[in-house]
Amino acid sequence: MEAKLNLLRNKIDTFDKMIIQLLAKRLSLVSEVGQFKSEHGLPIYDPEREASMLASRRQEAKSLGISPDLIEDLLRRLMRESYIHENNKGFKTLYPALRSIVIIGGYGQMGSLFRKMLILSGYQVNILDKDDWERSEELLHNPGMVIISVPIHLTEKIIKKLPTLPQDCILVDLCSIKRLPMQAMLSAHTGPVLGIHPMFGADVGSLAKQLIIWCNGRKPHAYQWFIEQMKIWGARLYLINNIEHDQNMAFIQALRHFATFAYGLHLAEEKINLKKLLLLSSPIYRLELIMVGRLFAQDAQLYADIIIQSENNLPLIKRYYTCFGKALCMLENGDKQAFIKNFKYVANWFGDYAKQFLSESQNMLHFANDNL
Ligand code: NAD
Repeated sequence: MEAKLNLLRNKIDTFDKMIIQLLAKRLSLVSEVGQFKSEHGLPIYDPEREASMLASRRQEAKSLGISPDLIEDLLRRLMRESYIHENNKGFKTLYPALRSIVIIGGYGQMGSLFRKMLILSGYQVNILDKDDWERSEELLHNPGMVIISVPIHLTEKIIKKLPTLPQDCILVDLCSIKRLPMQAMLSAHTGPVLGIHPMFGADVGSLAKQLIIWCNGRKPHAYQWFIEQMKIWGARLYLINNIEHDQNMAFIQALRHFATFAYGLHLAEEKINLKKLLLLSSPIYRLELIMVGRLFAQDAQLYADIIIQSENNLPLIKRYYTCFGKALCMLENGDKQAFIKNFKYVANWFGDYAKQFLSESQNMLHFANDNL
């Protein structure tokens, strides 16, 4: 019996080795595609090609009796790896005549990422970090673009401190809040002004499919090339005005981070045994714990700023606190009917999204379970 099992396992091992060899060949082709895209200035993420390729592979899988979802999962993981490889090939320089780019705060997390991407795109990048102000005159001599990437609470102060920039210099900030920094940039500089907000952490391997939100400040035609350059990096660009940006970020960032912070604080104060909690966790609780725990592996200053620095956030967080209190009252009153009524009210409000989210979360739960 043992021998038979070993024979079957050996056959599986042989096929696995063949799959690895095929993957190596596929990655080498991807590398060629990366080179071609780099030379021709094509974006590394091509949604139409991706969708049509997945649709064909799903169909082929189905005709062989293999789950189309399995093939799509595998291919998506492979494509993620491919985007990282394509990154290393460099990118076409869309504006070769641009004078040097100065990143203020360029040794930090987001500044370093933009520096890397801009250098890979053939631009000359200088850094002015906190200890470099004595050399600011030399570093800020006739720049083509200045990017502000300092901690949020210092952003306005540093913008105000800028010397007069050349009229055609593009002033950009990467701040997670947009209204006040953009106001400050528009007052400090009479030339082109652009606000961008990368919606990802600096540890992403590739910008493929990553969202970058942008807000027009002044003279958009002067920085349109930079928007196109970020598309070549694979990013998805979304244009919004800075007020609407901050209103939405109050939900997407401030409220969520604050609720996560309060939950983490509560877990710590309850002095629960994390190890035991993990051993007993369902995949969904593990995922939740991962999402809470990851916040505390990051920069406390960044999250404090994201939550505190915008005036929209406190009133919103207070309304959430009131809502939490009302929900608690239902519990205190033992009012099961009120709970069920409100549950149905929210389900109705989510509408079709509730079903969509239920289905999308299945994949994440499988992933959490696979990675135990
Ligand atoms: P960071 O703390 O990693 O980097 C900030 C950099 O600014 C550091 O190199 C620091 O030395 C430098 N600095 C501090 N004081 C300075 C001064 N007086 N003059 C010049 N440089 C100074 O911060 P970060 O996470 O890279 O954030 C930078 C910007 O990027 C922020 O506006 C933030 O909102 C935005 N952002 C960050 C993330 C992220 O995940 N890190 C995501 C989206 C947007």
